[in-house]
Amino acid sequence: MKHDHKQQGPGFQPLLTPPEKMHASSDYCFAFKERKILLFCNNGVCKLPSVKELRELGTEIIREQYIGEFGDISCFTAEIDNSFRHDEDIRFEDLRKLYDILGEPVASLAGRAIQLLEWDIKTGFCGRCGSKTFRSQQEKAKECPECGSLFFPKISPAIIVLIEKEDMALLARSPGFPTGLYGLIAGFVEPGESVEEAVVREVLEEVGVSIKDIEYFGSQPWPYPDSLMIGFTARYAGGEIRMDTVEIEDARWFKCDEIPTVPGNNSISGRLIAYFIEKHIQ
Ligand SMILES: [Zn+2]
Repeated sequence: MKHDHKQQGPGFQPLLTPPEKMHASSDYCFAFKERKILLFCNNGVCKLPSVKELRELGTEIIREQYIGEFGDISCFTAEIDNSFRHDEDIRFEDLRKLYDILGEPVASLAGRAIQLLEWDIKTGFCGRCGSKTFRSQQEKAKECPECGSLFFPKISPAIIVLIEKEDMALLARSPGFPTGLYGLIAGFVEPGESVEEAVVREVLEEVGVSIKDIEYFGSQPWPYPDSLMIGFTARYAGGEIRMDTVEIEDARWFKCDEIPTVPGNNSISGRLIAYFIEKHIQ
């Protein structure tokens, strides 16, 4: 399998206002306090609260936003007051752990929810003239009543690339990685750059090698805080590994049976490396 087929299914429909429903249905409330998500847990089983359940907690809800429909479940996101104190049945969980707790579709939705919540938080005032903005009724945008500026949810595109040299892959680690973990070369796309140009530049900057045969692999929203990871494969074309020691503390070629600890298959990084191993392992 060359291309990445792991995608969020057709299950979620982004909307500005909830549709009229014949019957009352359940809803999900993705409620956050400092980027951590609130879960109701009972005997080790955790779930998202509904809007009603969240309100019944009596905590101050600073803002709330409808984001769309997941099947026939209405989805909301909310910001909870920092001072909220909770008991042991209520947990605030790191977003990255949600894949294991609630599964990929709902974890992906939580990533979407935090990005939309942060967009709402950060665009309360116009960045050009300072006026208070309002929510557009036509599109997912905040509008300035004075100068007409529009502020859309921010997405920062970033590239990630698997570089192959014969039966080896180039893996690197950043100083901030957990001990022993290696990953792929990645970085943000600069204004004015195509994603392919960003791949070439990042690889040259971080490890000093040149590459060829750049091919698209797949993409993944990466809400830490607002990226879209765009994955590529490429082949080594020349040069010796020469590390940018600020961003990279080690970079090496690894054979498929020598791969160190790498990110899991919940990330496009892990899926690119799994693709490499599958291709080469006998
Ligand atoms: Zn303005």
